[in-house]
Amino acid sequence: MFASGHFVIGLMERFAPRHLAVENDRIGLQVGTLGKEIRKALVALDVTDAVVDEAIAAGADLIIAHHAIIYHPLKAIDTSTPAGRVFEKLIKNDIAVYVAHTNLDVAEGGMNDWMAECLGIESEGCLEPVHVDPLLKLVVYVPETHRQAVQEAVWRAGAGHIGRYDCCSFEVEGTGTFRPGEGTNPHIGTQGQLERVKEYRIETILPESLQEPIVRAMLEAHPYEEPAYDIFPLVLPGKTSGLGRFGRLKEPATLEAFALRVKEALDVPFVRIVGDPDRVVRRAAVLGGSGSRYMRHALRAGVDVFVTGDIDYHTAQDALAAGLALVDPGHNAENIMKAKTAERLAAELAAAGYLTEVIPSSVPTDPFRVM
Ligand SMILES: [Zn+2]
Repeated sequence: MFASGHFVIGLMERFAPRHLAVENDRIGLQVGTLGKEIRKALVALDVTDAVVDEAIAAGADLIIAHHAIIYHPLKAIDTSTPAGRVFEKLIKNDIAVYVAHTNLDVAEGGMNDWMAECLGIESEGCLEPVHVDPLLKLVVYVPETHRQAVQEAVWRAGAGHIGRYDCCSFEVEGTGTFRPGEGTNPHIGTQGQLERVKEYRIETILPESLQEPIVRAMLEAHPYEEPAYDIFPLVLPGKTSGLGRFGRLKEPATLEAFALRVKEALDVPFVRIVGDPDRVVRRAAVLGGSGSRYMRHALRAGVDVFVTGDIDYHTAQDALAAGLALVDPGHNAENIMKAKTAERLAAELAAAGYLTEVIPSSVPTDPFRVM
């Protein structure tokens, strides 16, 4: 059996949730529909004409791309223009396009973590926070018979994580009172009679982003018609997610040796560097795509070298003056997302028992050639 588009993208969004995207970023479904079977999905960095041809040749029903195909609102789809023909081809061949951009960059285990990992950076945090997930406390009152079922349901849905511990909760025994009103169908007791029931008060912690599925799981596992529960906001700091990563290098090196390592690890034809090639770099930051704007963030993070694409002349001069070395592997270094995303989705689909294939695009989309 093949998975539906909604199922495939559901997996994608569990990994790179939409709320992690930078404000006004263009993400999500951009062409076609997810309400269909997906036999094959192609993961690409950009949706170019050549990539669409690749999707057609491979028999793909869906392209999962990093860069949006529609960034500015379209005024027309004129199929006599190159851009218009790409849309025409996609629609005629029933190929949907879904975009995961900054949400994939920010995601835990996503673009920036992949890059940090392959460059040997032991990540200590992000360069620019994008989202803080506040913590909440859930308190629910359950009769003894369903205590374990409710606990397990909320844990499975993502409640009860504290640091490296899971299944965290606290329970205390007490007495619940209630009187079923007219038209009720109580699990315990009878209409119009005050009941006193032995119940457990179960408390657990959850991130706000998971509130909806956790409350749903709790309600499904709870035997009462009208379960009593409370949700409290907490002052404790929630998890911060953001763009870029910084930290110590597993193996300090000269800038030159590090730059060559970057070139090899990200499989790019060349890198540009700023700074003395012989200086030793011990701490590094990385940000996939265009990171010129984050040069100051890298300086604040106290790194020796910042790896990012699309560095412009004046940013390079400012970095040099500030003593921050730069390595620019080009925007195309983000190519790493193709194999990584495809591998992850393919494994999850196979584990769910679907025949849907996910393959990385092998068409190069970097418009630059090196002479
Ligand atoms: Zn990019």
